[in-house]
Amino acid sequence: MREKKQSLDFTSKWCYEPAPENSDHIQLKKKYELFIDGKFVKPTKGKYFDTINPATEQKLAEIAEADESDVNKAVKAARNSYENVWSKMPAAERGKYIFRIARMIQERAREFAVIETLDGGKPIRESRDIDIPLAANYFFYYAGWADKLAYAFPNRNPKPLGVAGQIIPWNFPLLMAAWKIAPALATGNTVILKPAETTSLTALKLAEIIADSGLPPGVVNIITGGGKTGAAIVNHKDINKIAFTGSTDVGKLIQHSLANTNKKLTLELGGKAANIIFDDAPLDQAVEGIVNGIFFNQGHVCCAGSRLFIQENVANIVIQKLKDRMETLIVGDPMDKNTDIGAINSKQQLETIQKYISIGKKEGADFYQSSCALPKKGYFCKPTLFLNTSQSHRIVQEEIFGPVLTIQTFRTVEEVIEKANNIPYGLSAGVWTDKGSRIFNMTSKLRAGVVWANTYNKFDPTSPFGGYKESGFGREGGLHGLQPYLSL
Ligand code: ADP
Repeated sequence: MREKKQSLDFTSKWCYEPAPENSDHIQLKKKYELFIDGKFVKPTKGKYFDTINPATEQKLAEIAEADESDVNKAVKAARNSYENVWSKMPAAERGKYIFRIARMIQERAREFAVIETLDGGKPIRESRDIDIPLAANYFFYYAGWADKLAYAFPNRNPKPLGVAGQIIPWNFPLLMAAWKIAPALATGNTVILKPAETTSLTALKLAEIIADSGLPPGVVNIITGGGKTGAAIVNHKDINKIAFTGSTDVGKLIQHSLANTNKKLTLELGGKAANIIFDDAPLDQAVEGIVNGIFFNQGHVCCAGSRLFIQENVANIVIQKLKDRMETLIVGDPMDKNTDIGAINSKQQLETIQKYISIGKKEGADFYQSSCALPKKGYFCKPTLFLNTSQSHRIVQEEIFGPVLTIQTFRTVEEVIEKANNIPYGLSAGVWTDKGSRIFNMTSKLRAGVVWANTYNKFDPTSPFGGYKESGFGREGGLHGLQPYLSL
């Protein structure tokens, strides 16, 4: 009897019923003020800007724009609370406040997830399962360190620096706020935090939690605005430390501004990570890792695996599997629980991505996009591949910050290490192989702050994160993340 052959048809798509997350429980104010000295206050000049939902282009709220005099007020409040309250409080008491903030984020997790998705465009699945729980975890983790600094740095007499100015980007708004605020508070510093102008809402919601937690006024101040507001924080004379996450261009500007000062600085900047697939890797898992590394979160991750290197003898099969998987990715409404790829964060960012797609076509790389339809309104981009790229292509060298993957092949370990490192950035990398010894060889030779092995984009509060070269300096997370906020 002849066996009937079963063929799997990967091209036929599953049809999912819409599964929208409910936003009825969300109450957004029309206008959001600055959070200074424990109170919400109007900006001195009375200026506001709109924050929109990038999936619908509809206005969500107005956000206060802080100018220099608002920054002055925030720094004054932070200095006052540092001198008179926070630095005098027993460390264990400080820790209790941080624990309380963590618990309150957990209690309001659903509300935060929905607002993060509405304001930033990322799929609700990601805000709900990654951003918000991780943000709470960073507060929990650093709360634990508050009264154990002497054990963390034995015989070094750790002391806080004073007032920290913190500037964060739009790709993980609440999570980046947690990465910055939690270690600063645990080490006894006070804070002025500025979220990115397109995603201020969850930072302002966090300000509500901070007010409700009873944290003494002025310990955390959250002020909103664009680049000018950020520059006013950077250049303020009474700030002791700047922590910045954002573009390499702005990072360089900040480094220039601080060159002649005593301010401490940490920079977490761009990336262009190599994701390297060897022929002995579990290929289906690797394909899932590639998709997770560059397409989920719309490629809006500085550590996105945006350069794929496949060992030549498995290149065809990996590329076919990748194309099949791309066909099944759902691009669209970020509030739908089935959505894999949500909205690009802003019109400006979509234009940047589109500019790079046309550069890649002009450079002569082979172009491939999934056949999915895009919503008519909002800022969306199809998952995109560029095949047969070379090291000299701009799309291989420059950060695109969108769902665009470049593909190269390699034959030997030496070749792929050379190619992976031949880039101005050094934030992260991924290695997929069955051999442990090869993983250790690769991790010691790749110039990247984080190297994931047989997984990608995994974060944990205990693990330090940060870059080499133009990806910045200093580490966030783990024990290492306490150090930049301490004089030792
Ligand atoms: P992206 O390209 O990811 O938007 P940016 O570096 O422009 O990154 O923005 C990251 C953060 O830096 C945002 O909060 C933004 O408002 C702020 N920013 C932009 N320009 C400056 C500047 N000159 N000085 C300080 N902060 C700035």
